[in-house]
Amino acid sequence: MESAHMATLPLLTSAPSTSWQAHGLCRSVDAGVFFPPAQFEHKPEREAREKRAKAICNECPVRGECLEWALSTKEPHGVWGGYAEGERKQILQGKVKISA
Ligand code: SF4
Repeated sequence: MESAHMATLPLLTSAPSTSWQAHGLCRSVDAGVFFPPAQFEHKPEREAREKRAKAICNECPVRGECLEWALSTKEPHGVWGGYAEGERKQILQGKVKISA
């Protein structure tokens, strides 16, 4: 479940601070959960990996800040703030709204 503040998250025009990163839950897990491997990853494997990453993000106290940063910097890889790269691209294109 996403918090209400994420539904109204403003898209910033400049990169915000990254001090929130020190509080991210992903700091205590294998980063490989959040990013694709160097070798080819089959769709079921990618979906399972992203599901694990998103479950961690859902419990993260800095999820909003993380998503805001990833959107404002157009982070091209990985799961940030509970959204994979393709989902963030759709948010930025206005095709998908950040769900509350
Ligand atoms: S929201 Fe996810 S990717 Fe962002 S800091 Fe938290 S755990 Fe890491």
